[in-house]
Amino acid sequence: MYEDRSAKRTELTQLGEFGLIEHLTKDIKIYNDSTLKGVGDDAAVIEASDMMTLVTTDMMIEGVHFDLSYFPLKHLGYKAAVANFSDIAAMNGTPKQITVSIALSNRFSLEALEEFYEGLKLACDKYKVDLVGGDTTTSLSGLFISITVLGEAKKEDIVYRNTAKEGDLLCVSGNLGAAYLGLLLLEREKMVFQTNPEIQPDLEGHDYVLQRQMKPEVRFDILQVLKENNIHPTSMIDISDGLASDVLHICKQSKKGCSIYEDKVPIDVTTSLLAEEFKMLPLVAALNGGDDYELLFTVPLLDFEKIKEIKSIHIIGYITEDNSDATLITQQGTAIPLNAPGWDALINTDSNYLNN
Ligand code: ADP
Ligand code: MG
Repeated sequence: MYEDRSAKRTELTQLGEFGLIEHLTKDIKIYNDSTLKGVGDDAAVIEASDMMTLVTTDMMIEGVHFDLSYFPLKHLGYKAAVANFSDIAAMNGTPKQITVSIALSNRFSLEALEEFYEGLKLACDKYKVDLVGGDTTTSLSGLFISITVLGEAKKEDIVYRNTAKEGDLLCVSGNLGAAYLGLLLLEREKMVFQTNPEIQPDLEGHDYVLQRQMKPEVRFDILQVLKENNIHPTSMIDISDGLASDVLHICKQSKKGCSIYEDKVPIDVTTSLLAEEFKMLPLVAALNGGDDYELLFTVPLLDFEKIKEIKSIHIIGYITEDNSDATLITQQGTAIPLNAPGWDALINTDSNYLNN
């Protein structure tokens, strides 16, 4: 991971801006009929349909959102695209087009950019999204990435954050906290490496959490299974900032509260084991760690029989009445308010928990 990837280095100035854009975008595949014109003109042309258009955008700054000393550019490209596709998924929509704007300094070579675009294109191929444009410019230092994704959905299919109802079941797909442990692992190995470059990073046996951090996927499979079972979520969000903060978005916007059962929060065993190694309560990784890109949604209680049969969907609690609190019910049955300061209490008990 720390090998010198710049063995071959072509300066960006050798190509010039237009040469660079052409080089990076020459083999782009178009998957959607609605894309009438992609890269190459003053604007992309997209045919409007009778569907609603969804628009999402994200900005990523080197040193703030990613650290290239341990995060490979190819993975960064993949993840940056996936994070935006996931926002479209969280509206119950389908991503169709993406634009990618970058600002970069002369520290970056053509080969580095090629890696980034390889990752981007891999995500576009997998999710059948068309890369239709962007902008390329210089920065004094560091890499800046701005991505916009257009998606579509039928008006009646769109699921918002502000429409959870009292009594709805709160559900989450997959498992939580793994991506955060992957990040802790990468940061730990970076520190070891900085202290002694002779020591090779020890990432063995941690494929799962690393994959969750470096190559996240979008849960379109969950949307599909919900559709097949005729379940229409009443509200939905993708978990990018951790369960605690994302469930609060649903609660605040829906003006409701919720109860989440600690022992129902799905955490993979590899995540738990590694969390213990980091002297951290696994639950804290699930609540406060980000980047899982799982779906958090509510369904009417009437759907209980159907939803409980679906593997990879977990019922973790329910929505409570208007303007009530968001709470976590611990295994001992204690209700803890689910807000940022509330976590200090838990974090302080975690060493006790781990020493038990
Ligand atoms: P303009 O000067 O009209 O903004 P540009 O030279 O910036 O045009 O871009 C030319 C074409 O290349 C446009 O279609 C634009 O969307 C596309 N493009 C520019 N930069 C990127 C990029 N980083 N990734 C993908 N497409 C890009
Ligand atoms: Mg431009």
